[in-house]
Amino acid sequence: MARRIKRFFSAEFVIIALMVLTIGLSTFFFIKNIEAYDYVIETNAFFAPFEYYDNREIKGVDVDIVNKLAEKMGKTFQLKNVEFDVIIDNVSDGIIADAGAAGLTITESRAEKVDFSIPYYTSVQYVIYHRDRAPVITGDHIIWESLAGSSLGSQTGGTGYLFMSDEVESGVLEGTNTIVKGFDSHQLAADAIGAHIIDYAIADELAAKFIVEKNPTLAALPLYYSGTDGMPDEPAEESYAIAVNKKRPELLAAINEVLTEMLEPGEDGKTEIDKLILKHMGLTDE
Ligand code: GLN
Repeated sequence: MARRIKRFFSAEFVIIALMVLTIGLSTFFFIKNIEAYDYVIETNAFFAPFEYYDNREIKGVDVDIVNKLAEKMGKTFQLKNVEFDVIIDNVSDGIIADAGAAGLTITESRAEKVDFSIPYYTSVQYVIYHRDRAPVITGDHIIWESLAGSSLGSQTGGTGYLFMSDEVESGVLEGTNTIVKGFDSHQLAADAIGAHIIDYAIADELAAKFIVEKNPTLAALPLYYSGTDGMPDEPAEESYAIAVNKKRPELLAAINEVLTEMLEPGEDGKTEIDKLILKHMGLTDE
């Protein structure tokens, strides 16, 4: 009997038992982790005031929208920080992400891949420049033509980057020796101005304002298209929306419901989105 017990607890048995236990436990936690959330929403947390890291926590207007959504749907959401440039394709695949909340501009080519919610913010592109090396300023704005021959930077895959590349390849900057560089974030593009790597950075309005607010050597002005036939110069407006996988109509409907409520002006004439923007720009204490 004693010998049998001894054999039963042999070293081999203990090792195999431990291995089985380890594999079992890790599989359990792996599956649990995958299934822990009802929906996964991707973002790129380097786009204040819409998303930014505060210590290790992601905060911002889009985060507040997602929290409202979770409350309204009674579902759990994982907000995942990824590279900006992969969000639309990941949402389109729908395998690792159900939606993307990243101050995403509605564009035709993106709308072929994903469904967009109703728009919740209107933006324009800005030029960020060093105060000592400003481009030609026309009144209160900068026209694309005054960027000719310079080196420009923007966040890869963003609308600023797409517009800038279009103008250089086949638009008003074609054949002007203007150089285009891509960066991982708007902040990194702006930092490259100080480092003399580029002359100017192109970024969405609030991202640009947020960046120059923190760096007194930099300034930013809106980027306009020159008016033709006597028309005034004008910026191109962009609308932000949440990108949703095309096979998640229930999620899209719930997002639209939440946004509709948040865009309703209150007694002071301000919408909840307006207030969140002020809060995350650090302009109110709330
Ligand atoms: N609105 C821009 C875009 O959709 C930039 C968004 C961002 O950088 N997060 O391309």
